[in-house]
Amino acid sequence: THFGYEQVPLGDKRRRVAGVFTSVAHKYDLMNDLMSLGVHRVWKRFAVDLAGVRAGERVLDVAGGTGDLTREFARAAGPKGQVILSDINAAMLGEGRKRLVDHGLLNVPLVQANAEQLPFEDGSFDCITIGFGLRNVTDKDAALRSMTRCLKPGGRLLVMEFSKPLNPLLGKAYDQYSFKLLPFMGRVVARDEDSYRYLAESIRMHPDQQTLKGMMENAGLARVQVYNLSGGIVAVHRGFRL
Ligand code: SAM
Repeated sequence: THFGYEQVPLGDKRRRVAGVFTSVAHKYDLMNDLMSLGVHRVWKRFAVDLAGVRAGERVLDVAGGTGDLTREFARAAGPKGQVILSDINAAMLGEGRKRLVDHGLLNVPLVQANAEQLPFEDGSFDCITIGFGLRNVTDKDAALRSMTRCLKPGGRLLVMEFSKPLNPLLGKAYDQYSFKLLPFMGRVVARDEDSYRYLAESIRMHPDQQTLKGMMENAGLARVQVYNLSGGIVAVHRGFRL
């Protein structure tokens, strides 16, 4: 279904985001590879290593979409652990279910949930991740609080998101790429220019490294560290619940 955001009243971010992901769900994995020239796999590998999930742990992948991170965590947590894939969007979860089954991972529960109001008990996870999801969330502070609440004391939250390139020249090139080439590729490959224009806009609007670090500290996380990847195009933030 085509769902151009010009049809949505301005400011109705929730519906716009829902439309974007319902519309791109079936092409989502292909577009990720194309748009990042495959580099998103390297970024995800870094986040998975930093998460350091061990056998027997409980892990929640928020805004997990088609489950790239979930699958790695499920392998690391093993049969004694538990990994949950959650996302607000049913179409994305549907694709996630298919991918999990393709990889023989049949024991991963899928939970449709808004990151702002997670339906899990306090202190129930060793590790929570949100990969390329936070920028789509309307109330980011609420989402950070909600994820922190669901962590066990000592548990860690990892936020992986597009961020601010450290070098201004790289920043300029990247702006050109995201506002010109991205919508073009969206049109050609997914026949959906608007969704990919939304993507570029949401990246530009997202808080930079230091701002996000402060927001995580405000949500109650400690020892927050920032890891810049590809010159700050992507950043991974990790913090711990005390
Ligand atoms: N984590 C996956 C990955 O790295 O490939 C998927 C990332 S995808 C760019 C962003 C996901 O965020 C979409 O699946 C979308 O449905 C989900 N999302 C958007 N708003 C959300 C919210 N408020 N709560 C939970 N998930 C949300």
